[in-house]
Amino acid sequence: MNRTFSIIKPDATKRNITGSINKIIEENNLKIIAQKRVKLTKVQAEGFYSVHKDKPFFKDLIDYMTSGPVILQVLEGNNAVEHYRNIMGSTNPENAETGTIRKTHALNIQENSVHGSDSDKNAEIEIKYFFDEGEIIS
Ligand code: ADP
Ligand code: MG
Repeated sequence: MNRTFSIIKPDATKRNITGSINKIIEENNLKIIAQKRVKLTKVQAEGFYSVHKDKPFFKDLIDYMTSGPVILQVLEGNNAVEHYRNIMGSTNPENAETGTIRKTHALNIQENSVHGSDSDKNAEIEIKYFFDEGEIIS
Protein backbone atom coordinates (compact mmCIF):
# COMPACT_ATOMS: atom_id res chain seq x y z
CA MET A 1 0.00 0.00 0.00
CA ASN A 2 1.19 3.51 -0.68
CA ARG A 3 -0.09 7.03 -0.93
CA THR A 4 -0.58 9.77 -3.45
CA PHE A 5 -1.83 13.34 -3.20
CA SER A 6 -4.86 14.55 -5.16
CA ILE A 7 -6.62 17.86 -5.71
CA ILE A 8 -10.11 18.18 -7.14
CA LYS A 9 -9.70 21.54 -8.85
CA PRO A 10 -11.96 24.63 -8.97
CA ASP A 11 -13.59 23.79 -12.32
CA ALA A 12 -14.94 20.59 -10.72
CA THR A 13 -16.08 22.08 -7.38
CA LYS A 14 -17.84 24.85 -9.35
CA ARG A 15 -19.78 22.28 -11.41
CA ASN A 16 -20.65 20.24 -8.27
CA ILE A 17 -19.09 17.05 -9.66
CA THR A 18 -16.76 16.14 -6.76
CA GLY A 19 -18.91 13.10 -5.99
CA SER A 20 -18.63 11.81 -9.56
CA ILE A 21 -14.85 12.15 -9.34
CA ASN A 22 -14.68 10.41 -5.96
CA LYS A 23 -16.80 7.60 -7.43
CA ILE A 24 -14.22 7.03 -10.18
CA ILE A 25 -11.42 7.11 -7.57
CA GLU A 26 -13.18 4.55 -5.36
CA GLU A 27 -14.29 2.29 -8.19
CA ASN A 28 -10.64 2.04 -9.16
CA ASN A 29 -9.62 0.72 -5.72
CA LEU A 30 -8.08 3.87 -4.31
CA LYS A 31 -9.18 4.73 -0.78
CA ILE A 32 -9.69 8.39 0.26
CA ILE A 33 -7.85 8.40 3.61
CA ALA A 34 -7.91 12.21 4.07
CA GLN A 35 -10.01 14.92 2.49
CA LYS A 36 -10.67 18.61 3.08
CA ARG A 37 -12.30 21.46 1.18
CA VAL A 38 -10.32 24.72 1.21
CA LYS A 39 -9.77 27.84 -0.86
CA LEU A 40 -6.06 28.08 -1.68
CA THR A 41 -4.29 31.36 -1.06
CA LYS A 42 -2.06 32.79 -3.78
CA VAL A 43 0.98 32.00 -1.61
CA GLN A 44 -0.13 28.36 -1.12
CA ALA A 45 -0.82 27.86 -4.84
CA GLU A 46 2.46 29.48 -5.90
CA GLY A 47 4.39 27.31 -3.43
CA PHE A 48 2.61 24.15 -4.51
CA TYR A 49 3.27 24.79 -8.23
CA SER A 50 6.72 26.39 -7.80
CA VAL A 51 8.23 23.85 -10.25
CA HIS A 52 6.19 25.60 -12.98
CA LYS A 53 7.08 29.19 -11.98
CA ASP A 54 8.92 29.94 -15.24
CA LYS A 55 6.26 28.44 -17.52
CA PRO A 56 4.13 30.77 -19.69
CA PHE A 57 0.93 29.35 -18.12
CA PHE A 58 2.03 29.94 -14.48
CA LYS A 59 0.11 33.15 -13.74
CA ASP A 60 -3.11 31.81 -15.30
CA LEU A 61 -2.63 28.55 -13.38
CA ILE A 62 -2.39 30.41 -10.05
CA ASP A 63 -5.43 32.60 -10.89
CA TYR A 64 -7.41 29.46 -11.77
CA MET A 65 -6.31 27.41 -8.73
CA THR A 66 -7.32 30.28 -6.40
CA SER A 67 -10.60 31.04 -8.24
CA GLY A 68 -12.75 28.75 -6.07
CA PRO A 69 -12.72 25.92 -3.55
CA VAL A 70 -10.62 22.80 -4.06
CA ILE A 71 -10.77 19.38 -2.40
CA LEU A 72 -7.40 18.21 -1.08
CA GLN A 73 -7.08 14.44 -0.72
CA VAL A 74 -4.71 11.69 0.28
CA LEU A 75 -5.36 8.46 -1.64
CA GLU A 76 -4.10 5.03 -0.64
CA GLY A 77 -3.72 1.92 -2.78
CA ASN A 78 -1.35 -0.38 -4.57
CA ASN A 79 1.07 1.61 -6.71
CA ALA A 80 -1.01 4.69 -5.81
CA VAL A 81 1.00 7.36 -7.66
CA GLU A 82 1.12 5.63 -11.05
CA HIS A 83 -2.34 4.12 -10.66
CA TYR A 84 -3.95 7.52 -9.98
CA ARG A 85 -2.08 9.14 -12.89
CA ASN A 86 -3.61 6.44 -15.11
CA ILE A 87 -7.11 7.03 -13.72
CA MET A 88 -6.70 10.83 -14.18
CA GLY A 89 -5.63 10.65 -17.83
CA SER A 90 -3.41 13.02 -19.81
CA THR A 91 -2.97 16.68 -18.82
CA ASN A 92 -4.78 17.70 -22.02
CA PRO A 93 -8.20 16.00 -21.91
CA GLU A 94 -8.20 15.76 -25.71
CA ASN A 95 -5.40 13.20 -25.33
CA ALA A 96 -6.89 11.38 -22.33
CA GLU A 97 -8.14 7.79 -22.55
CA THR A 98 -11.86 6.99 -22.39
CA GLY A 99 -13.04 6.41 -18.83
CA THR A 100 -10.39 8.62 -17.22
CA ILE A 101 -11.41 11.50 -14.96
CA ARG A 102 -10.01 14.09 -17.35
CA LYS A 103 -11.63 12.55 -20.46
CA THR A 104 -14.95 12.37 -18.62
CA HIS A 105 -14.93 15.73 -16.81
CA ALA A 106 -12.11 18.13 -17.80
CA LEU A 107 -12.92 21.28 -19.75
CA ASN A 108 -9.50 21.99 -21.31
CA ILE A 109 -5.75 21.67 -20.68
CA GLN A 110 -5.87 24.16 -17.78
CA GLU A 111 -9.27 23.39 -16.24
CA ASN A 112 -8.55 19.68 -16.11
CA SER A 113 -10.44 18.82 -12.91
CA VAL A 114 -7.73 16.98 -10.93
CA HIS A 115 -4.13 17.00 -9.77
CA GLY A 116 -2.16 13.88 -8.90
CA SER A 117 1.44 13.54 -7.70
CA ASP A 118 3.96 12.42 -10.32
CA SER A 119 6.38 10.47 -8.06
CA ASP A 120 6.49 8.89 -4.60
CA LYS A 121 8.89 11.61 -3.45
CA ASN A 122 6.57 14.40 -4.65
CA ALA A 123 3.56 12.61 -3.13
CA GLU A 124 5.28 12.72 0.25
CA ILE A 125 6.20 16.41 -0.15
CA GLU A 126 2.72 17.39 -1.39
CA ILE A 127 0.89 15.46 1.37
CA LYS A 128 3.08 17.17 4.00
CA TYR A 129 2.41 20.55 2.38
CA PHE A 130 -1.31 20.30 3.19
CA PHE A 131 -1.90 17.62 5.85
CA ASP A 132 -0.72 16.79 9.35
CA GLU A 133 -0.19 13.04 9.84
CA GLY A 134 -3.04 13.06 12.40
CA GLU A 135 -5.53 14.13 9.72
CA ILE A 136 -4.78 11.01 7.65
CA ILE A 137 -6.76 7.96 8.73
CA SER A 138 -5.52 4.88 6.91
P1 ADP B 1 -0.26 17.45 -14.64
O1 ADP B 1 -1.31 18.14 -13.80
O2 ADP B 1 -0.86 16.48 -15.62
O3 ADP B 1 0.86 16.84 -13.81
P2 ADP B 1 1.62 19.61 -15.29
O4 ADP B 1 2.31 19.29 -14.00
O5 ADP B 1 2.44 19.65 -16.54
O6 ADP B 1 0.40 18.59 -15.56
O7 ADP B 1 0.89 21.02 -15.18
C1 ADP B 1 0.25 21.42 -13.99
C2 ADP B 1 -1.08 22.05 -14.35
O8 ADP B 1 -0.85 23.26 -15.06
C3 ADP B 1 -1.97 21.22 -15.28
O9 ADP B 1 -2.70 20.20 -14.64
C4 ADP B 1 -2.87 22.29 -15.87
O10 ADP B 1 -3.89 22.69 -14.96
C5 ADP B 1 -1.87 23.43 -16.05
N1 ADP B 1 -1.24 23.39 -17.38
C6 ADP B 1 -0.28 22.53 -17.82
N2 ADP B 1 0.10 22.80 -19.08
C7 ADP B 1 -0.66 23.85 -19.48
C8 ADP B 1 -0.75 24.60 -20.69
N3 ADP B 1 0.01 24.31 -21.77
N4 ADP B 1 -1.64 25.62 -20.74
C9 ADP B 1 -2.40 25.95 -19.67
N5 ADP B 1 -2.35 25.28 -18.48
C10 ADP B 1 -1.51 24.24 -18.39
MG1 MG C 1 2.25 17.75 -12.58
